[in-house]
Amino acid sequence: MPDLRRTLIWLADQLFPAACPLCRCTFPAGWRDPFCANCQAGFKPLPPAHCPRCALPFQAVNSSSHLCGRCSLLRPPFSKVHCVGLYDLALRKAIHQFKFNQRVGLDRPLAILLDRVIADDGQFDLIIPLPLHPRRLRQRSYNQSLLLAKEIGKLRGLPVASRLLLKQRDTLPQQGLSARDREMNLRSAFGMSRCLSGERILLVDDVMTTGATASAASRVLLQNGAGEVQVAVVGRAPSESPQSVR
Ligand SMILES: [Zn+2]
Ligand SMILES: [Zn+2]
Repeated sequence: MPDLRRTLIWLADQLFPAACPLCRCTFPAGWRDPFCANCQAGFKPLPPAHCPRCALPFQAVNSSSHLCGRCSLLRPPFSKVHCVGLYDLALRKAIHQFKFNQRVGLDRPLAILLDRVIADDGQFDLIIPLPLHPRRLRQRSYNQSLLLAKEIGKLRGLPVASRLLLKQRDTLPQQGLSARDREMNLRSAFGMSRCLSGERILLVDDVMTTGATASAASRVLLQNGAGEVQVAVVGRAPSESPQSVR
């Protein structure tokens, strides 16, 4: 029986060779990574020098443990940010395909990369996706953060709470707003359907730009009983850029 199974798997590989979910090239035999070598080479990891709290990359070459200016002024409510890499080049392309072009099949490959950077760094009780307002959800037909959260939940064997944190007010796009206007824009944007009791939360989103959205959501989670919030995003914007949305 095992021989038959092996033969069937071999036959399926010959008939339907696995392909890179981003560039569609056929994987070489025995390939185990979620993307091809070319695409992965285009994913720029976070540099060693970055803010330990919000993962903002620094210009300095050497690693550093000091907080960035923004976190020094006002400590964010989340305690750490995990990210696959810089929101740039191939990773930006992958996120755009996933988020705006209905390429929902990128959920698992991106979640695998995100799960690798989280690794054993942190124990969590619950995964919560950044919610979309119902009107935005109807427009896009899916919440990319929920798809990512579900896959990370499967990989880590953790429950995903998809209706706990709610986007109760539709907000303006964050891009182009000043830091103060971002704060105002997000005021009362999030709510909770019930309270927590000390759970350690992994808050999942696709991109972090200034961290204002993740901060607003984390604050609501902590005010409603979460014990700790860490954030997991695929891409971390090096600074505010026109294409960034959060
Ligand atoms: Zn590829
Ligand atoms: Zn920071």
